Amino acid sequence: MNKNDHRPTILIVDDSPGNIHLMGKLLSQDYQVLFATNGQDALTMAASALPDLVLLDVMMPEIDGFTVCNLLRNDERTRHIPVIIVTAMNDSDSETRGFTSGAVDFLTKPINPSSMRARVAVHLELKKQREELKAANAQLQEDSEFDILTGLPNRKLFQDRLKQAILAGERNNSIFSLLFIDLDRFKWVNDTLGHDAGDALLIEVAQRMKSVVRKSDTVARLGGDEFTVILSDILHESMAELVGRKILEQLSAPFQLQGQDVVISGSVGIAVFPGDGTSTTELAKNADIAMYQAKESGRNSLRFFSQELNRIAQRRMLLEADMRRACLKNEFFLEYQPKINSTSGKIIGMEALIRWEHPRDGILYPHKFIPIAEENGLIIEISAWVLHTSCRDAVSWADDGFPNLKLAVNLSAIQFREGDKLFDLVESALRETGFPAHHLELEITETMMLANTKHVSATLQKLRSMGVSIAMDDFGTGYSSLALLRSLPIQVIKIDGSFIKDLVSNSEDVDFVAAILLMAKKLGLHVVVEGVETAVQMDILKSHGGDDIQGYYFCPPLCGKAFHALLHGKIPLGGRN
Ligand code: C2E
Ligand code: MG
Ligand code: MG
Repeated sequence: MNKNDHRPTILIVDDSPGNIHLMGKLLSQDYQVLFATNGQDALTMAASALPDLVLLDVMMPEIDGFTVCNLLRNDERTRHIPVIIVTAMNDSDSETRGFTSGAVDFLTKPINPSSMRARVAVHLELKKQREELKAANAQLQEDSEFDILTGLPNRKLFQDRLKQAILAGERNNSIFSLLFIDLDRFKWVNDTLGHDAGDALLIEVAQRMKSVVRKSDTVARLGGDEFTVILSDILHESMAELVGRKILEQLSAPFQLQGQDVVISGSVGIAVFPGDGTSTTELAKNADIAMYQAKESGRNSLRFFSQELNRIAQRRMLLEADMRRACLKNEFFLEYQPKINSTSGKIIGMEALIRWEHPRDGILYPHKFIPIAEENGLIIEISAWVLHTSCRDAVSWADDGFPNLKLAVNLSAIQFREGDKLFDLVESALRETGFPAHHLELEITETMMLANTKHVSATLQKLRSMGVSIAMDDFGTGYSSLALLRSLPIQVIKIDGSFIKDLVSNSEDVDFVAAILLMAKKLGLHVVVEGVETAVQMDILKSHGGDDIQGYYFCPPLCGKAFHALLHGKIPLGGRN
C-alpha cells in the first residue's frame, strides 16, 4: 500500500486469479487495490492495512466468505469496514446469509462493471459520512453540558451550577448543600450482567434521583456511578439529610434489569455551604470525603462532612505516605504470642503479629494500618515481609533447641486476589528459610471466604497439599457456616476473644463456646481459644475441653528477643503452672 497515495483502499478477496485481475482492472484507476486469494490472508491484510472497503468472494476453500465477513465484524479493528459480498449464487438464501454475517451489499457474478463501480462508490461515501458524523458527535459530547446516557447535567455544567449556587449563597446569605452519591454495587452489575444492564441501571437511577428533588435543584452525573445533587437555598441542614435519605430509599428499591430484580444501594456524603467550604473545589472535596466515610461505615448510609472526618481523612493520607517509607526503612517488626496446650501447659507454637514503630506516633497496632495497607496494595509487600521474617525467626528458634514449634501467620483477603501469587510466596518463604511446611499454619478469616469461595478453596487446597495447615481465625464473628467449614480444607479454628471476655457473666457465651468445642471435635478440627485473660475463664474452658490457649493469662505478644527468653524459661509464663 502506498502511503503517499490518498485514494481509498479496496481489498479484493477471491480465489480465482481471473476474477481478481478483472475486478482489479476495473477499480485500480480510482482506488488503491489490495488482493487476497484466501480467507486467512484476507483477515490478516484487513487487520493490518485497514482498507476502506472489502469485496469478498463467497466460495473459497477453507474459510468461506460468510465466515470471513463474520470474523471481520467481530474484530474491533475491522468492524467498521464495509464488506460487499461477490458471488455467483444469486439465490435469496445466500443473500440472507450475507447480510446476517454483516455484509453491507451484494454483487453477483458475472460482474457488471458500472454496477460494481457505482456500489463501491456509494459505500465508500457512506463510510466517509459515518466517520464524519462520529467525529462530530465526539466533539458535541466534548462541548456538551449534558451526559448523553442519562440526560443529566455533566461535570462541566455541574461545576457551573455549583459556582452559581455559591454566588447566590453569598449574595443572599443563604445556605445550600451538596450531596455526593455513589452506588455500592455498580461494578458488580456491570461485570456480571453486562454494560447494557449497567447503562439501564444508571438511567433508572437518574430518574429516581430526579423524582425526589425540586425542579430548581440540580442532579448531575460526574461519570461512572458518581452522582451529585445541589440542593439550593435550604433553610436547615436537616433538609439535606431528608433528601439524602429519600435518595437512599429510592436506590434500595429493586431494579428490573434483564427480567430480574437487582438490589443495589448507595452511599451519600453531604457538605453544606458555607460551613464546609466556600469554593467549588473545597465543597466537592468535602462532600467526597463524607461520601467515602459513608461507604466505609457500610452500605446504604449517609454522612455529613465534619472537621473530625476531615482530620481522620488527612491522618489517613499522612499515614499512607508514611507507610510507603516504613516499608523501605524497616519500621515494621513482629511480636510473637505463645499458644499453650491446655493439658500439658507447654508452649506448642506462636502467632506472629505485626507492629509498626512509627517515628512520630510510636508503636501502631495492626488495626490502625492493615486496612489502609489493604486499600493501597502495600499489604502484598508487607505480608511477604511478615512471612519471610517469621519463618526465619522460627528456624533460628528451631536451631536453638525448639524444633517443634508451630508458627501461625495471618493472611489478608487481598492475598487471595492474584492467582497463584500467594502460593508462590509461601513456597519461596519456606524454600529460602528452610522452615518445614508442616509447622506453618496460615490464618484466614471467615469474611475472606465470602468473595470467591471456589477460588479461595482451590488456593487453600494447593497450600494444604504442600503440608501447610489452615486455621479459621476470629471464628464466630463472621458469617461462619458449617457448609463453609466443611467445604474448605481447614484443620484449626480459633475462637474469637470476644466470646471469652464475658464467659464468666454470660451463660450464653459459655453455651456457644461449648457448642463450638463439641462441633470441632466431631469434625476433627483442632481448636485454639483466643483472648483468655483470667484463671476463671481458663477453668471454664478446661471443663469443656479446649485444646490450645492464646491470651494474656499466659502471655502477651512479645518481641522476638523476649520470646526467645520465654522459650528458655528466662521469662516466666503466666497462669498457674
Ligand atoms: P488476630 O489474628 O485475631 O490476633 C489476635 C489479637 O488478639 C492480637 O491483636 C493479640 O495481641 C490480641 N490478644 C491476644 N491475647 C489477648 C487477650 O488475652 N486479650 C485481648 N483483649 N487481646 C488479646 P493485634 O496484635 O492487635 O492484632 C490484631 C489483628 O490484626 C489480628 O487479629 C490479625 O487479624 C491482624 N494482624 C496481625 N498481624 C498481622 C499480619 O502480619 N498480617 C495481617 N494481614 N494481619 C495481621
Ligand atoms: Mg490471627
Ligand atoms: Mg483472632
